[in-house]
Amino acid sequence: MSDIKKVVIIGSGLGGLSCGVVLAKNGYDITVLEQGDQIGGCLQCFTRRGAKFETGMHFIGSAAKGQILDMILEYLEVKKDITLSPLNPDCYDVVSIYGEKFKFPNGSEQFIEKFSTYFPKEKDNILKYWDLVKKVAGASSLAMLQHAESDEVLNMKYQMLSINGVLDEIFTDEKIKNVLIGNLPLYAAIKDKTPFATHAFVADFYNQSAFRIVGGSDSVAISLRKTIEKYGGKVLTKHKATKIVCDSTKALGVETQGGVFFEADYFIAGTHPLRALQLIDSKLIRPAFRSRIMSIPQTPGVFCVYVRFKENTVKYMNSNFYGYNTSSTWNCESYTDSNWPKNWLYMHLCHKDKAEFAQTGVILAFMQFNELQKWVGTPIGRRGEDYENFKTRKAEQLIASVEKQFPGLQNSIASYYTSTPLTYFDYTGTERGSMYGIAKDIHLGATGRVPHKTRIPNLFLTGQNINTHGILGVIVGTIVTCSEFLTAETIYQQILEANK
Ligand SMILES: Cc1cc2nc3c(=O)[nH]c(=O)nc-3n(C[C@H](O)[C@H](O)[C@H](O)COP(=O)(O)OP(=O)(O)OC[C@H]3O[C@@H](n4cnc5c(N)ncnc54)[C@H](O)[C@@H]3O)c2cc1C
Repeated sequence: MSDIKKVVIIGSGLGGLSCGVVLAKNGYDITVLEQGDQIGGCLQCFTRRGAKFETGMHFIGSAAKGQILDMILEYLEVKKDITLSPLNPDCYDVVSIYGEKFKFPNGSEQFIEKFSTYFPKEKDNILKYWDLVKKVAGASSLAMLQHAESDEVLNMKYQMLSINGVLDEIFTDEKIKNVLIGNLPLYAAIKDKTPFATHAFVADFYNQSAFRIVGGSDSVAISLRKTIEKYGGKVLTKHKATKIVCDSTKALGVETQGGVFFEADYFIAGTHPLRALQLIDSKLIRPAFRSRIMSIPQTPGVFCVYVRFKENTVKYMNSNFYGYNTSSTWNCESYTDSNWPKNWLYMHLCHKDKAEFAQTGVILAFMQFNELQKWVGTPIGRRGEDYENFKTRKAEQLIASVEKQFPGLQNSIASYYTSTPLTYFDYTGTERGSMYGIAKDIHLGATGRVPHKTRIPNLFLTGQNINTHGILGVIVGTIVTCSEFLTAETIYQQILEANK
């Protein structure tokens, strides 16, 4: 009998695929099961009339030579397969509040200098704020690639303090507080709830460097799949897991919609945890655990307008643009029909490096799942005329809002396509179409966390709900999950080795 251990991974999102790579490289026999036609989950792209669009990941940070994501991508063998295009280092993000624009530059000194120019009276507080951001972001073990040196105490403290609570302690000026969290669509922050640690990680991650992936984020998924296959594993699309079959002590195999049964020694669910729980009816999973996971709030959903531009009409915008139609950048996720969209995020896809003109762009705005409730259960592409009318009305509202800051945009659009939180629910299984899965809430503490281990000893969870969302957040989750097979220190060591 072979000593090689079999692992079945459910879901080919970044979490599932990166676990597949780490374990395949370490001698495990990997099978990834994906429900959809395409791999990648939120790394998926789609093409209409020859123009390509990203549905989830649009830009990444800390990926310059020697930075943390660069090292991890080298280890995962992705770097050779993707081309990164740097966003404008003087303003990778632009926050515009009622048309007043603030640019976020890369680099600590540059950030402090720029913000001190915008808010000269706040210079000392800006220094204090940035020092804290760097300390909190650096407190994670991954930042050091050395488990022992992580500062758990500092990390924990700022997991329990809200972003606005900490900013209120540092600043008195309301405007600077609003600007500093102006890119909050990147982490769907909620006032009084989202931990300052989340803000610090994201702020530091993109401040270090910011890039688009040339040709689209699906190249990351394609590369990860290639590596799994190189080490003898398989990634199977159109294989929806319908049941994780267990005996009284452990999981035995996964049943799929097509009736195929996959036996293995270990199982990892890279899906939203509620999708994973739906697959299990073992007594090993206690009702109290189910209800705790079910009660964790979700991040808001998102409405997207994917625009295809008329040829050579729109200059490629090498920044992300966050527009606000409100003076406060908080609470944009709660809106009425008449004041939506309170804010939006507008970006271009980098279809080739140093392109002069953009081919496509995307506009994102928060949307609550309640708005889609009446179409739940309807099939994709056949939800009915009222759904199509709803989407058109929302798209026109959103485009008109962006047009105010980008005059001429409407006339440059050759065609557009839309997606709603329901689309995300159907394509990725994210609960209530939530953008980033479960929401972090300082008041919930441990009860708001999804553990990577389950009471079924050979079943683990991974993906954005374990640690946090985003390319680095998900990969940290992967390291946490795979540390059950290899230990975190081994993985850190392997990352360092791969970068020698
Ligand atoms: C609009 C948007 C913009 C974003 N922008 C960025 C960005 O610019 N930068 C960044 O770093 N991050 C960004 N993110 C976040 C990032 O894309 C996600 O955190 C990450 O890709 C999630 O990966 P995952 O593996 O956890 O989950 P997912 O990508 O959701 O993957 C889960 C997979 O499981 C599959 N699945 C579910 N149920 C089953 C089943 N029963 N059987 C088989 N398969 C199943 C799904 O089909 C899916 O493929 C964005 C996300 C969104 C939604």
